[in-house]
Amino acid sequence: MTDLPRIPLAGVIGHPIAHSRSPALHGFWLKRYGIKGHYIPMDITPADLAEALKMLPKLGFVGINVTIPHKETILKLADVVTDRAALIGAANTLIFRKDGKIHADNTDGAGFMANLRQHAPHWQPADGPVALFGAGGAARAVIAALIEVGVPEIRIANRTRLRAEVLRSDLGAKLVVYDWVHAGDMLEGAALVINSTSLGMTGKPDLRLPLHALERGAVATDLVYTPLMTPFLTEAKSRGAHIVDGLGMLLHQAAPGFERWFNHRPEVDDATRAAVLGA
Ligand code: NAP
Repeated sequence: MTDLPRIPLAGVIGHPIAHSRSPALHGFWLKRYGIKGHYIPMDITPADLAEALKMLPKLGFVGINVTIPHKETILKLADVVTDRAALIGAANTLIFRKDGKIHADNTDGAGFMANLRQHAPHWQPADGPVALFGAGGAARAVIAALIEVGVPEIRIANRTRLRAEVLRSDLGAKLVVYDWVHAGDMLEGAALVINSTSLGMTGKPDLRLPLHALERGAVATDLVYTPLMTPFLTEAKSRGAHIVDGLGMLLHQAAPGFERWFNHRPEVDDATRAAVLGA
């Protein structure tokens, strides 16, 4: 019998997983580039994680995306962890290497920056301070990426102040922590304003912070992408900000994994957005 090449498999693991847009995204790219391969959503409980990770390469998987609740715990199961994943304390992209080692990376911060470059190309890191709402896992990835590109100052406010203080002690002195009740003050002179809380997401309360200090012409971006136009972005736009929605971050964070697994750098363009929005 001839040995046919194996069809590469990739996928996303999480618990739950049904809401994930990643299968629609990777499925679109596989079809667009005529690649023989599959991308599969897999609901894996924390109790089954270690065993599943051992089995997946044997089943023909070349890598996977990792989402809630496994993004942090997966680091302990990986053999090689990139610097940025270690700094963030979480991974979203795994590569199952030919030598049997599991390589873990975090592409959220790079996805955030690529989205900003695509939709607010005039923004430069040196333009001024950044104001960021939230101090969760996504905030950590975004802050690490902002420090890497050289922003001068990152003002941060979180409902649970302690979480913001921990970020400051982990990620450095460029961070200035504000009280959640004074979060509106961070906007004065800020060139970039980011919502990294889950507020504004469908089914969650709105982000209700005073935006009167938002500078006209500042860039405002939301990590939430359901809905695309969050109440925060709507108000920021009405105050003259240049807005960037969160869908592009999702698309761009997926590109490096796709490239490593299927040997093709996918394009993030309007057709990609439309494919994911229509799914
Ligand atoms: P997380 O670790 O659970 O953090 C949630 C954040 O939201 C925390 O700062 C939390 O504050 C805040 N928050 C939640 N409910 C709140 C409330 N009622 N009032 C005030 N603050 C509240 O989540 P995450 O992973 O950082 O994700 C945050 C958001 O970004 C989610 O909506 C996620 O879908 C989105 N996201 C988008 C992308 C993308 O590609 N566009 C990527 C990653 C994440 P406390 O610390 O006080 O609880």
